[in-house]
Amino acid sequence: MSDYDVVIVGTGAGGGTLARHLAPSGKRVLLLERGDWLPREKQNWQAQDVFAANRYISPDTWYDEQGKAFQPQIHYFVGGATKFYGAALYRLRAEDFGELRHHGGVSPAWPISYDELEPYYTKAEQMYEVHGARGEDPTEPPSSAPYPFPAVSHEPRIQQLSDDLEAAGYHPFHAPCGIRLNESDLPHSTCIRCETCDGFPCLVHAKSDAEVLGVRPALEHPNVELWTNAYVTRLDTNPAGTSVTGVVVERDGEAETVSGDVVVLACGAANTAKLLLVSASEMHPNGLANGSDQVGRNYMFHDSTAVLALSRDENPTVFQKTLALNDFYFSSDDFEYPLGNIQMVGKSSAPMFRGEKPGETKLAPEWTLEKVARHAIDFWLSTEDLPAPENRVTVDGDGRLTMRYTETNSEAKRRLAARLHSMLGKLGMQEDHLFHRFAYMKNDIPVAGCAHQAGTCRFGTDPATSVLDVDCKAHELDNLYVADTSVFPSIGAVNPALTAMANALRVGDRLLARLA
Ligand SMILES: Cc1cc2nc3c(=O)[nH]c(=O)nc-3n(C[C@H](O)[C@H](O)[C@H](O)COP(=O)(O)OP(=O)(O)OC[C@H]3O[C@@H](n4cnc5c(N)ncnc54)[C@H](O)[C@@H]3O)c2cc1C
Ligand code: SF4
Repeated sequence: MSDYDVVIVGTGAGGGTLARHLAPSGKRVLLLERGDWLPREKQNWQAQDVFAANRYISPDTWYDEQGKAFQPQIHYFVGGATKFYGAALYRLRAEDFGELRHHGGVSPAWPISYDELEPYYTKAEQMYEVHGARGEDPTEPPSSAPYPFPAVSHEPRIQQLSDDLEAAGYHPFHAPCGIRLNESDLPHSTCIRCETCDGFPCLVHAKSDAEVLGVRPALEHPNVELWTNAYVTRLDTNPAGTSVTGVVVERDGEAETVSGDVVVLACGAANTAKLLLVSASEMHPNGLANGSDQVGRNYMFHDSTAVLALSRDENPTVFQKTLALNDFYFSSDDFEYPLGNIQMVGKSSAPMFRGEKPGETKLAPEWTLEKVARHAIDFWLSTEDLPAPENRVTVDGDGRLTMRYTETNSEAKRRLAARLHSMLGKLGMQEDHLFHRFAYMKNDIPVAGCAHQAGTCRFGTDPATSVLDVDCKAHELDNLYVADTSVFPSIGAVNPALTAMANALRVGDRLLARLA
């Protein structure tokens, strides 16, 4: 008999969500997390510590295709990347599940339709207490329930931006937000609406992250166990190579092996691929579940750009991530291909610029960092990054991870930024000033900004071109599943976490049926 019914590796958007979903079943669930609980300390909310001193970034070293070492902007804690995320919890558009033609190539179809994932999106929105307003965004997919919480209000400068966008004929909408803010009863609200949210951990546990709303509620069930500082180094199989029989875990410098009837990987796209690749064996010489040679390939991380515009009036906004615009998601009047999504990013501050790259001060030397920050309105532009087989994670004999990546769909990315640039004058901003911010990508090597990493183990119907079947079970193994962003066949142009959460719930239902 196995030690556990289900062993889940990783506690982020995929693993944490799955654990909570399985917990009430009474099944014996073990969560293995390489990181620790994120310490609750004042530094959680200090831009200097978080952005300049990289206090919470893993010390991992990865390599680019030239063999140059870099430190990926990755976080190993209970809750995974969601501890730091901006909690913008979007559904993919219904069209993202079909094949979409882009300027840079084709975004392939998913093996399931939007309609199949829809009930799980609704459940995920409820589990993660998403705030939003249906009916404002013309590209919004159909939904079977309203958002569980009302949209987070815009502060005055962002409301003005919304009004100006509408007056210019656009369709701004309230961004779907995972912050536990109760605006009708602020004295009892868990969230205090602060300026240190996007990219910071939440000191008061008010962010809808996978620790607070996944792992902690799961652990209220006695059948769920969590091992922290438990680094999974390898998966062993039976001699035929058809089942995972052992999960090798390093804790306190000691290796031990645990077993589960079912093993689910949710380590994030790069590390899930790495774990499969380092688990090569006689029966799986190219890496576990990698007969198709697809493990590690089709890595995507969004063609994202963080930019700041300078408002003519000061922008005293505290929580800025409340507005978004999808008018250019599928095309624009002068471009027949998708451009992407425009949303706000956390309000910039002078200490953040010191951790980033204050290019804007070079361009506008008369502006001090403080003055730039006071007038900054910060946007996050995302264009769909297309899956390419040569964009891939590989691992050498010493376990060294190399990330090969060439930008895709760059014309669409350029045009999206140009679109925003052309609108600035009408939006009360300095016309010629749209500067790059390097939020989440403070490194000379763009692949280090792996916040939105996805792909590497895509699911599909054909074992020759996919790693996982439609249930996200490895084609080649009967008890190995993946439930994180690795499974994405394409990434769309909206933030990935809610889709990972919804799919983890879908995989969870398959597991419950299997283990019944
Ligand atoms: C700064 C920042 C802002 C973001 N903002 C947004 C946003 O606003 N909206 C959005 O949708 N998305 C956002 N994202 C992205 C989002 O957080 C991720 O898409 C999501 O968390 C991915 O989920 P996952 O389960 O694939 O991986 P993760 O959440 O990263 O979880 C992986 C977990 O596996 C653990 N792990 C890895 N390897 C091992 C191993 N070998 N053994 C044991 N444990 C292991 C890791 O420590 C981690 O806890 C943001 C990310 C960052 C970093
Ligand atoms: S805005 Fe709310 S959820 Fe975000 S860090 Fe501040 S208190 Fe936490």
